[in-house]
Amino acid sequence: RHLQPASAAAAQSYPVSHDRIESPANTQNFLDNKFVESKATTWLDLHDPATNNLVTRVPQSTDAELVAAVDSAEKAFQSWKNTSLLYRQQIMFKYVALIRENWDRLAASITLEQGKTVADAKGDVLRGLQVAETACGITTQMTGEVLEVAKDMETRSYREPLGVTAAICPFNFPAMIPLWSIPIATVTGNTIVLKPSERDPGACMILAELAEKAGFPPGVVNIVHGSAKTVDFILDEPRIKAVSFVGSNKAGEYIFSRASANGKRCQANLGAKNHAAVLPDCNKNHALNAIAGAAFGAAGQRCMALSTLVMIGETKDWVPEIAERAKALKMDGGFEEGADLGPVISPDAKKRIEELIASAEEEGATILLDGRGKTPEKYPNGNWVAPTIIANVKPHMKCYREEIFGPVLVCLNVETLDDAIELINANEYGNGTAIFTRSGSTAAKFQKEIEAGQVGINVPIPVPLPMFSFTGNKKSVAGGGASTFYGKPGLQFYTQQKTVTSLWRSEDAVANKATVNMPTHS
Ligand code: NAD
Repeated sequence: RHLQPASAAAAQSYPVSHDRIESPANTQNFLDNKFVESKATTWLDLHDPATNNLVTRVPQSTDAELVAAVDSAEKAFQSWKNTSLLYRQQIMFKYVALIRENWDRLAASITLEQGKTVADAKGDVLRGLQVAETACGITTQMTGEVLEVAKDMETRSYREPLGVTAAICPFNFPAMIPLWSIPIATVTGNTIVLKPSERDPGACMILAELAEKAGFPPGVVNIVHGSAKTVDFILDEPRIKAVSFVGSNKAGEYIFSRASANGKRCQANLGAKNHAAVLPDCNKNHALNAIAGAAFGAAGQRCMALSTLVMIGETKDWVPEIAERAKALKMDGGFEEGADLGPVISPDAKKRIEELIASAEEEGATILLDGRGKTPEKYPNGNWVAPTIIANVKPHMKCYREEIFGPVLVCLNVETLDDAIELINANEYGNGTAIFTRSGSTAAKFQKEIEAGQVGINVPIPVPLPMFSFTGNKKSVAGGGASTFYGKPGLQFYTQQKTVTSLWRSEDAVANKATVNMPTHS
């Protein structure tokens, strides 16, 4: 419904199929508004997950290139911070328009490198675009506070940019997550050095190109590449004041502690195990459709995927009907007409997911729908795992304790709503959760007692729109969730508050003797 065709202005050639690319180009660094070939000696091959054909080679940016990115961002900050809000707002308007014009092209890059379907990739772009659109309202969002605190004296507090910031992004939302950072960091007057996932940086490179076209001066947005080495550089570089991270717990807990130990601000959204509690009084058809869509869409590789069902009472008998709906979903190359889900990101991811399914079998759960060993005819070499449903799961099982991040739905049975709440709260992750019920009081109790960042009531994936914040809880967010992405907390993250108290008193009202006591403002 939100999608519009790309305009003629965006008419560029971009992939529309999984056909092998004859001479794959290397991914470049983006420094000072220019695409620069890396002098890297280490390159990471990036394969189309549907075919495992080579798409591009991603450099491990060299030390000199990483330093150059920060030099450029530091230099740009000196003038960018002094531009007016209205000037930055105008650039943001242009950026938004360009992202919209290049929507199809961005989505195509995501489908090719990440694997999700074109329709889903368009949603990925849209959710980032909405953050950029909301950032256009910066002129009202940035107003400070002022109060006359005593006679002739007023205190005002306002927000200033931090300087050079950095973002480290995951593979699963190649456009949305870079756009959780780029618009807010820059519109508030910061510059940014961003490291996309080495597994799918293509969309981010298009976003960089559009940033230059929108009028961002050189150095305001720089893109570097690589894996842990680049991350360590970002964490240890003293000129980088703030680090935004989205990704796994393994990387994120390390990044949060090292960034914090180095005195940087850090916001870090981590892994998930999102539960849905299903009550017998719910709208069954709506719930089952919503669950199948949220469990298997994007091949389960969303931080908000509904990966765990808590079937309350008699609803345990509904699981075979979810399996029927799951079977009706078409797994295929993301560019194919009618594809509902694509491949998983890599052969390693496929192997890990299949091992987790096998572990459930060994631990006594029931594999109600087995997605292993299924492959679309046209794509025999892709990383395929079809929708899988594991029933009769118990909390001690590995498939319940670990984030699977694949198209696998794990189902547990409980007797009451209280049992469901206790189970969900005992899980160490707290990203999102949902409840399906027709009862307002049941929903109200769940909403109040559940420990999760996002709560959906008859809504499966409650990813908050950008006028709110993407909140997290427990192990799903580092630092206890004190700093979250976009919305008011996002604005706070990228700005430093300054509080100024001034006295303007006429000369004849000034006393002749100095006073040494703390002022009482009487
Ligand atoms: P990942 O942690 O493997 O990678 C994320 C980033 O960290 C990448 O840029 C990568 O280069 C870097 N990285 C990876 N390992 C590192 C290490 N050992 N040291 C330093 N840097 C390292 O995550 P991923 O597989 O790309 O993304 C999937 C994960 O992200 C899932 O756990 C998912 O739940 C999570 N995620 C969370 C949210 C959220 O908002 N909570 C959103 C999207 C994804």
